Amino acid sequence: MQISRRALLALASATTALSLVGMPAFAQSKGTIGIAMPTQSSARWISDGNSMVEQFKAAGYDTDLQYAEDDIPNQLAQIENMITKGVNVLVIAAIDGTTLSNALENAAASGIKVIAYDRLIRDSANVDYYATFDNFKVGVQQAESLVKGLNERFPDSKPWNVELFGGSPDDNNAFFFYNGAMSVLQPMIDAGDIVIPSGQTGMDVVGTLRWDGAVAQARMDNLLSANYGDKQLHGALSPYDGLSIGILSSVKGVGYGSGDLPMPIVTGQDAEIPSVKSMIAGEQYSTVFKDTRTLAGVTVKMVDAILSGGEPEINDTSTYDNGVKVVPSYLLEPVSVDVSNYEEILVGSGYYTADQLK
Ligand code: BGC
Repeated sequence: MQISRRALLALASATTALSLVGMPAFAQSKGTIGIAMPTQSSARWISDGNSMVEQFKAAGYDTDLQYAEDDIPNQLAQIENMITKGVNVLVIAAIDGTTLSNALENAAASGIKVIAYDRLIRDSANVDYYATFDNFKVGVQQAESLVKGLNERFPDSKPWNVELFGGSPDDNNAFFFYNGAMSVLQPMIDAGDIVIPSGQTGMDVVGTLRWDGAVAQARMDNLLSANYGDKQLHGALSPYDGLSIGILSSVKGVGYGSGDLPMPIVTGQDAEIPSVKSMIAGEQYSTVFKDTRTLAGVTVKMVDAILSGGEPEINDTSTYDNGVKVVPSYLLEPVSVDVSNYEEILVGSGYYTADQLK
C-alpha cells in the first residue's frame, strides 16, 4: 500500500498535537532584552552578563547579550542592531558614556526604554533608569583601606609617599571613585601625613584611558624612575584590580616586595580572581567587592516593572546628573575586602569557591 506524502504529514502533525495534550504549556517569552556590555577582558563584566542572562531567563525573558571589547564603534553598532531587531528594553554598560546620544534617540523613537548599567550614560535625555553601586563610597573605601594598610605596614614612616591612579576619563564612575577617595586623602595631604612625590593629582593627570593595566604599569615605571631615586613608595591608590596588577608588576620590577623593601599598599576594585590571589599572597592589599549577581537582580526587577507597566524601585533621585537630567537610580552597597574578610565575603557568599582562589 502506498501512503501519500500528504497523509504522512497529516499523521505526523496529529501525533504531535496528541502528544502535546496534557503537557504543560511552554511559557511564552515576555520579551527580549538587549544587553550591551563593554568587554570580556575583565571578569567582572562576564559575571554581570552571565548573571543577567540567567536571571532574565528565570523571569521569562529572552536576552541578546553582546560584548564590544572596548571598541566604541563596535558597541554603537551592537546597540543600533538591537534597536533594529526591536528589543523591548536596552541594558547598557557603556564603554564611553558620552557617545550614545544618537543611538538612544533612535531607541526612544522606537519606544525602547534604556537602563544604564553600572556606568552612567551622559548627555542624553533618553536614559530612563540607572542601576549601580554607591560609586563615591567605593572611592571612600579604597582610600580608607589604603590608610589602614599604611598604618599597619608603615606605622613609623609618616609622611607616607603615595601615588594616585584614576580610572578611564570617559567613564563617569572614574570621577566618583576619585572624588570619593580624595574626600579621605586630601585632608591627609593638607595635614602633611601623605605626600605625593610626583605632584600628580587630578583626574586629568592621573586618569587611565580604557582602564588599561599596561598604561598604569608604564605610568608607575615613569613615576618611580623620575621621583623615587632616594625615596620609598609606601602606597598607590588604584581604582581597579586590572590597574593594580600593572602597578604591582612595575614596583616588583624595581625590587619592592623583596629584601628590605616591603610592598607598597595597593588598593583595587572588583575582587577579580588574580587580585584576590595576589591579596592572599601578600601583594595587592585590598579590593572592593561589588556583587554582580545583586546588580543583575536589581536590573531584572527594573525591567520587569517597566514592561508590566509599573514603577521600578529606586533609592536615589539626586546624585546622578548626566548633564541633561538627573537619572533615577538604584544604588547598591560596595564592600571593602582584604585578607581579613575575603573568605567570609567572597567564599561565604558563594561568589567564588575556595578552590578557585587556590
Ligand atoms: C566599574 C568598575 C570597573 C571599571 C573597569 C567601572 O565602570 O564600575 O567596577 O572596575 O569600570 O572595568
